[in-house]
Amino acid sequence: MIYDVIIIGSGPAGLSAAIYAQRAELTNLVIEKTGISGGQIINTYEVDNYPGTPGISGFDLSTKFREHCDKLGTTFITGEVVEFKLENDIKVITLDDGTRYEARTVIIASGGRPRHLEVPGEDKFSGLGLSYCATCDGAFFKNKTVAVVGGGDVAVEDAIFLSRISDKVYVIHRRDEFRAIKSSVNKLLANDNVTVLWDSVVESINGRETVETLDIKNVKTGESTNLEVSGIFIAVGYIPNSQIYKNIVATDDHGYIIAGENTETNVPGIFAAGDIRTKDLRQIITAASDGANAITAVERYMNNN
Ligand code: NAP
Repeated sequence: MIYDVIIIGSGPAGLSAAIYAQRAELTNLVIEKTGISGGQIINTYEVDNYPGTPGISGFDLSTKFREHCDKLGTTFITGEVVEFKLENDIKVITLDDGTRYEARTVIIASGGRPRHLEVPGEDKFSGLGLSYCATCDGAFFKNKTVAVVGGGDVAVEDAIFLSRISDKVYVIHRRDEFRAIKSSVNKLLANDNVTVLWDSVVESINGRETVETLDIKNVKTGESTNLEVSGIFIAVGYIPNSQIYKNIVATDDHGYIIAGENTETNVPGIFAAGDIRTKDLRQIITAASDGANAITAVERYMNNN
């Protein structure tokens, strides 16, 4: 069977595209890597900027999105895309179990993954006091001292979340101001048990079996300190999951697939939606908006080809 559209990824962009695809009566399929829908937001403790659902957890919001798709009858397949190619106008996708799918159009909505600090100890202690997901692992650090690295929305939200569980939270940020939204920053700074180490970078993560200390350097003064912590949460952004598509569609220097508001890439019939595409604002609402725009673009393509 050749599908009208295959959607790769089941974050807010992919799930929104799936809803629009079903309503447009396009034959479609959603491919998701883990079998859990929601993408990055499943790890977000609180989403307070998606209209109509103040304070909802990312997990609950993604469950709602998924239930909406299920109600409309979307088909989900679990698997990792290992090959993506064109056979004339047909887009051919191969999954890690060898299954092959064909479609007239594809929406790439496969988001990104956590960026690593790439410092000594990072690989060794992953899962042994070092985590990229505070909402997943924060509970292990009840009444302990932890550090969060980063200055964006995720780092600040993670630190707020951890300040409710842990005794002490250090936030280590390489500059002297946060990138995160002001309201979250104010919430963070109002916590007595939070200390921000400005202009600071982690040089190494140390310990015997699990994380015990961090070597920190102040990039302005050059001063080095050793910080005792039981856990470190790294929240320094994401890398787009675009590697497999780079030989087909154009990407920018950071690996984001080049596409505008209409989600069209440089290849007719291939669209990029959500965090994987070049855009100013990567949020749930803009990802969901991309999903809607992508299906509109798919319909336009199908009408003209
Ligand atoms: P981000 O906004 O890109 O922030 C990454 C942070 O990590 C920045 O502060 C950056 O420092 C720092 N950083 C990057 N590389 C580093 C390195 N090698 N060493 C040390 N620090 C490093 O990423 P994010 O916080 O993961 O958020 C991703 C996107 O999701 C953003 O667009 C965010 O707004 C969005 N988001 C939205 C919500 C929400 O709407 N509620 C929730 C979560 C995330 P600099 O500041 O110096 O660049």
